This record gives sequence, C-alpha cells and structure tokens, in this order.
Amino acid sequence: MPNSSTSILIIYTGGTIGMKENPETGALAPFNFDQILNEVPELRKFGFNIDTISFNPLVDSSDITPEFWIELAKIIQEGYYKYNGFVILHGTDTMSYSASALSFMLKNLHKPVVFTGSQLPIGKLRTDGKDNLISAIEIAAATSNGQSLVPEVTVFFENQLFRGNRTTKYNSEHFNAFRSNSYPALAQAGISIKYNYTHIGYPTQHHDFTISTHFSNNVAVLTLFPGITPAIVDSVLSTPDVKAVILHSYGSGNGPSSEWFIERIKNAVDKGILIFNVTQCKAGGVNMSKYDNGLLLKKVGVIGGKDITFEAAVVKLMFLVGKNLTFVELKKQVQESISGEISN
Ligand code: ASP
Repeated sequence: MPNSSTSILIIYTGGTIGMKENPETGALAPFNFDQILNEVPELRKFGFNIDTISFNPLVDSSDITPEFWIELAKIIQEGYYKYNGFVILHGTDTMSYSASALSFMLKNLHKPVVFTGSQLPIGKLRTDGKDNLISAIEIAAATSNGQSLVPEVTVFFENQLFRGNRTTKYNSEHFNAFRSNSYPALAQAGISIKYNYTHIGYPTQHHDFTISTHFSNNVAVLTLFPGITPAIVDSVLSTPDVKAVILHSYGSGNGPSSEWFIERIKNAVDKGILIFNVTQCKAGGVNMSKYDNGLLLKKVGVIGGKDITFEAAVVKLMFLVGKNLTFVELKKQVQESISGEISN
C-alpha cells in the first residue's frame, strides 16, 4: 500500500494527453503540466507526493529519436532513489518503441516505469486521459511489503497493463489502442486493479540500478510483399554501414524461395549483416522449420525472431548493434531475452 511518504514522478513528453482547448481559438495546444493538479484535481486524493517534469520542447511521438530515449533514461536515473515509481506520458504513435527502448536501457530496475497517454486530450470532456493517468499512478505507487508490485517498464491503456516491450499500437481511434498479443496482460483495472503476479517479472538479483545508453541507427527493415524486386532487396541490403536487417516476413517466417532472393540474403549474412526474421503477423511467431520456404532462410543463416514484436525487434537491433558486439555475439544475444521481450 502506498503511504504519505510515497513519491511519484510524472514525466510529460508530449502527445495528445497533455492538450487542452485554447478558449480563444478552440484549437488544441499543450498545457503547462505544472498545473496538472488543477486540471486533474482527483490526483490530490492520492495523498502522496506527485512531482512533474515536462520535456521542452514537447514532442509529437512521431518525432522521437534515440536521443530522446537517452534523455528519458537519464531523468529516471537522476530520480531513481527519490521516487517510488515513474509515469511517462507519451504520444501513442511510438509508445511501444519507447517502452521497448527503456526496458532495454534500465538495468536492475526495481521500480515501476509506466507509460501511458490517451486518444483524447485530458482537457476534453470525454477524455480517456484522466482514467489512464490515475490508474497509471496507482500502479506506479503500488507496493507490498515495501516492494513494488510491477517493477517493469509497462504500458497502461484502457484498463489494461501490459509489458511495454510486448505491446503494439493496434487502433488509431478506439480507446483500447494497444494490444499485447504474445504475452498476457500484467494487470486489469476494474473496480480494483487485479495483478497477474505470475507474469510480472521480478528481479532476482540486487545489483545497483544503471542505464545503458548506446544505440546505433545502422539497422534497416526489409518488408516482403508479393512481387518484391531484386532492386528493392538490394537497396535495403546494401544500405551503407548497415549491420542488422529485420526481414519482415510472412506467416511463420517465410519468404520467397527464388534463387535470386535466397542468394542475396546469403550474401548479406556472409558479409556479416545480421538478418533477423520477424513475422508480419500480429500474433504467433517465427518458426523457420515449419515450411520449406522458411527452411531455406534458416539454412543461409537467418536468425528467427520467435514471438518478438516488430517494434521491440527494431529497438533491440539498435540497442545490440550499439554495443559493438562481434557477429557471433550479436547473433547469440538477439535471440536471448533482455527484459522479457522474446520467449525462450
Ligand atoms: N501523434 C500523437 C503522438 O503520438 C498521437 C498521440 O498522442 O496519441 O504524439
């Protein structure tokens, strides 16, 4: 149970949630988040300390870059021992990417980091932002015997708490914008918040909290579609300095069996480019041994992404390539879970 000494930090980065109608123009504009207690007076009822910090400038999340993730991680590092939990208000468009990034960057995390946002601005009558914010704060503050109930990087949206690196933005209009198709929800908010303890990741070691801040942009995505041409494949695989490519494949990790295609993939692997097979399907995963077409990819050295989401896969490649690993080590680590983003 939280008590009066509980302290939560809300980090407002931008996005729809923090907008309010300008009474003169009728247009939506970000409001001064220091005034959040005036906008959402219900927050006073928590009876504990809530601090806020706002990014300057505020960003539409489609402008987010790795530098932004680093800034976020540093804010959490600075406040790590002062606060019991963190709530990050973030645009929904790239929330799954940012939650994945933070889940990889924050090492030995023992406190909740809850991302949320909204489909309607907090200043609108029918906003989903208030409920999302209030529940996210409650989750960030929730403890039992002094231990945080959800010491993970998560996404809370429309009654459900998900592991952040398992989420995907699924709907651009409905309030339930996110899904986690390959991992169960960590909590459901109804009359009370019911936690799914068996699926929450609890730290097994007690090392000090640190952050890892190296990302590389030398990754690319090759999305397959019927009729893809050698020129398109070449343009991706011969991107200067590219070190890792997501092969955004069909079904359980299949692609064309044509000689020209397999040969190009093989040449890329032989040059030391990691080819990471991630399915275009929204659920299930990659199993390259299921069909002959998948097996051809496996035989030339493509690595299967199992049930990882596209968003987590992109960020994971950026994160691991940023570590300057050897090719052998990169291939090994990409298949292992860093923070529960991929099943063993
Ligand atoms: N474009 C906005 C953003 O991602 C949408 C939102 O806030 O949900 O920042």
